Amino acid sequence: MPVTLESRLRQIQVFNLNHEVYCAGTECACSEVTAVVVDENPRTGERAPRRVTRRAPGSLTLLARERRQGLPESVLQVAEVRAAIERGAVRVVEQTAGRPHRIPATQPAREE
Ligand SMILES: [Zn+2]
Repeated sequence: MPVTLESRLRQIQVFNLNHEVYCAGTECACSEVTAVVVDENPRTGERAPRRVTRRAPGSLTLLARERRQGLPESVLQVAEVRAAIERGAVRVVEQTAGRPHRIPATQPAREE
């Protein structure tokens, strides 16, 4: 079931989405980054560029007070997200499928 997260802060928050944790429950959100490293041959001292591909974890950015819907449930397993929820920096919005979004806290008394 998709998850809705809401930022409680008036500042931007960025969470790194750990591949082992986050991508396990959804399609891989990582991007592949190609870097060129220079290898030096220890015998000849010759330098040769070599391309290496690294997996860079995806990230989730929440803008100030942003509410983001449709996140995979595995986002709640990501350590950085869990910590933010525990600090109160992020709130998990309850799923209200088929129910009205806002229920008034107090019903005005009606006299007829
Ligand atoms: Zn991944």
